[in-house]
Amino acid sequence: MSKEKTPVLYSRKEECCGCTACYAVCPQSAISMKEDEEGFEYPQIDENKCVGCCICLKVCPLKAENTR
Ligand code: SF4
Ligand code: SF4
Repeated sequence: MSKEKTPVLYSRKEECCGCTACYAVCPQSAISMKEDEEGFEYPQIDENKCVGCCICLKVCPLKAENTR
């Protein structure tokens, strides 16, 4: 069974500002915002719902900066 790979939204917390853009845009509602121990919200992808479309990566303001 082949399935597109679930993207990595951030590997360090510095790579995510918790803007929730990815959460808002996901057509599969695969992303949920989870609070960390400091009360900041970070997105978490449910791999069972994710279809690997990578739209979440395209809307991320921090990733857009990195590819400029
Ligand atoms: S790759 Fe697509 S389906 Fe998966 S979390 Fe991102 S927007 Fe949602
Ligand atoms: S779009 Fe990027 S910065 Fe915004 S919550 Fe998602 S991963 Fe974090």
